[in-house]
Amino acid sequence: MALFLPEFDLQRFNTLAIAARAQFYVAVTTHDEVLEALAFARERQLPVLPLGGGSNIVLADNYPGLVMHIKLRGIEPVAEDAQSVWVRAAAGENWHEFVQHCLMIGCYGLENLSLIPGSVGAAPIQNIGAYGVELQQRLSELSAVDIRSGLPVTFTAESCNFAYRDSVFKHSARDRYIITSVTFKLDRAVRPVLDYPSLRQQLQLEPDGGAPAEAHFSAQQIADAVIAVRQEKLPDPATTPNAGSFFKNPLVDAATFAALQQRYPDIVSYPQADGRVKLAAGWLIDRAGWRGYRAGDVAVHSEQALVITNPGRGSGASVLALADEITRSVFSQYGVTLELEPRVYPA
Ligand code: FAD
Ligand code: NAP
Repeated sequence: MALFLPEFDLQRFNTLAIAARAQFYVAVTTHDEVLEALAFARERQLPVLPLGGGSNIVLADNYPGLVMHIKLRGIEPVAEDAQSVWVRAAAGENWHEFVQHCLMIGCYGLENLSLIPGSVGAAPIQNIGAYGVELQQRLSELSAVDIRSGLPVTFTAESCNFAYRDSVFKHSARDRYIITSVTFKLDRAVRPVLDYPSLRQQLQLEPDGGAPAEAHFSAQQIADAVIAVRQEKLPDPATTPNAGSFFKNPLVDAATFAALQQRYPDIVSYPQADGRVKLAAGWLIDRAGWRGYRAGDVAVHSEQALVITNPGRGSGASVLALADEITRSVFSQYGVTLELEPRVYPA
């Protein structure tokens, strides 16, 4: 039986450590409890917020509905062939522990995504990515429950409509499903992806070196390098509340980029296959003078300007006010609009 707790403080359950209350909170550990919680919400006409690790949300205010903390557990290989193993993980599994488990059982492909906070079930929402690997490259399918009807639904990788830090769950399927498990297609052989300069440096690879040297690394060595780089650069939410990158890297068209590059010859950029250019939002914010800035409870991380921290455990409003100031400053300096990466609740 699920336990519904009224006026529940969510401060411990979001990595920005914002104090805000849920009208009701329930932790669900079984499929039946998911259905019971949905029936509870339906009877009271409450909106439902599925919650994982709370590492990609901003609580702007108290949540007037049911927060459903997804605690479904379980990992199992479900199929295999000569090259691949399909592994299914329940939505409440911790993402990093799942990646480590895959390495331990000889299933590779997720090592660059080590140490990303949060749950397996939230990973498809923004198609998590790091160091040149995105979830969409490995997701085979996912199982979900329709919040309105309580019926089961399966999404293939194609129907998730994945894009850069984006999926159908941020658009037409937004607020419509509880993801209950995700199935990954993983490799039996290690295929290193070592394009990012910080990772190459950590592994003592030449900046432009090629495949022969890279082939010698085990997946665990790559994971360990990712972990080391992340621990050096990113604030640990346990001590410095934050939600990771606060803004997406903007994609601009070639003409806009050419004009920007004329004004800022050292602008950090990455050409995309579709002709657009990805700008490093962290660079834009840094050059606009925000790195290390502090305003009361909230601050801009001194090692990475893309991360807003909440050392004073201030309100969601103060976090969003700083984000707004940064957005306006970047727009006035470069004419580029930054988009928030974490989801803001209530919408
Ligand atoms: P939550 O914050 O709990 O939820 C996020 C969204 O997903 C919400 O809209 C929520 O309703 C929804 N959701 C959660 N679970 C479910 C479910 N089971 N079914 C349906 N909807 C659900 N992200 C990256 O992509 N790459 C990184 O390298 C990265 N690094 C980070 C580093 C730090 C220090 C931090 C704090 C964050 C980082 N993030 C990164 C962002 C974040 O960790 C990821 O987006 C992660 O997938 C969020 O998982 P979560 O369980 O905490 O989600
Ligand atoms: P970084 O390695 O200093 O790189 C800065 C930016 O340049 C990143 O945003 C990255 O884009 C881009 N980049 C670097 N090398 C690239 C390449 N070879 N090809 C294409 N793009 C390249 O970034 P960082 O802050 O230390 O983060 C490292 C990785 O972890 C990044 O992939 C980042 O996205 C991820 N991360 C994400 C979050 C989050 O909350 N979303 C938080 C921390 C770290 P991409 O961001 O597109 O990769």
